Amino acid sequence: MDAELKERARGEIIKARGLVALTGAGISAESGVPTFRGREGLWRSYSPEELATPEAFARNPTLIWEWYQWRRSLIDKVSPNAGHRALAHLEEVAADFILITQNVDGLHQLAGSRNVLELHGNIWRSRCTGCGRIEEGRKVDIKIPPRCQECNQLLRPAVVWFGESLNTIFLDRAIQASRECDLMLVTGTSGVVQPAASLPFMAKEAGAVIIEVNPDLTPITPIADLSLRGGAAQILPEICG
Ligand code: NAD
Ligand code: ZN
Repeated sequence: MDAELKERARGEIIKARGLVALTGAGISAESGVPTFRGREGLWRSYSPEELATPEAFARNPTLIWEWYQWRRSLIDKVSPNAGHRALAHLEEVAADFILITQNVDGLHQLAGSRNVLELHGNIWRSRCTGCGRIEEGRKVDIKIPPRCQECNQLLRPAVVWFGESLNTIFLDRAIQASRECDLMLVTGTSGVVQPAASLPFMAKEAGAVIIEVNPDLTPITPIADLSLRGGAAQILPEICG
């Protein structure tokens, strides 16, 4: 990787006052959490697009909970990597910093990030399909499908599935931060899941510098001022320190 490119990225990050980091599944890949679109994305023979939908849950809640229990047990065993830690460090030194993540694994918070907007929810949270009550807890071995203690209706993972709307308060905050920042650091996202994928375009339109860190090209690459091809755990510590 071009050392000069990394030096330029570092310079832009140091210079920026308002910073937004936008992350996706790829930042947790090196911790051992499979991405949705990577080779290890499949569970049994299902793709995430077949499982992470309200229709799939309505059809077979036990199957969907089995998949979530598998993902929870994976996430329970892993730790944040150097990429997560570099973003936590950046929050310490930046004047104004917000981390917008599509991840549901909670690894950013474990790494020390505090100002985190979890656009798609958190895998350790459940919501009652009857009364809407939220249940929190890092529980791996639960009886599935779990039911609400209050109304006995099914609980579902409190995450945003394909075809569902995001929490509007979170989305509005993410849009506002994207329009107001000087620099957006985009890492580990394929840039195809909306509306998160539009945030870099909003930032760019409002004049922010866009830096992308990803081993692959994405739809965000053409608008990136600096595009660093490689893994987040290696590159982020070099440009955020
Ligand atoms: P995605 O699976 O669509 O794409 C992952 C991206 O990460 C790809 O562009 C890939 O090239 C890149 N990548 C792979 N390894 C990387 C690395 N070491 N460093 C940096 N980038 C790397 O992920 P997405 O864009 O986040 O969208 C999928 C949806 O899946 C999101 O809604 C998210 O909630 C959910 N998801 C979350 C997790 C998690 O919480 N860890 C895991 C899988 C999926
Ligand atoms: Zn209930």
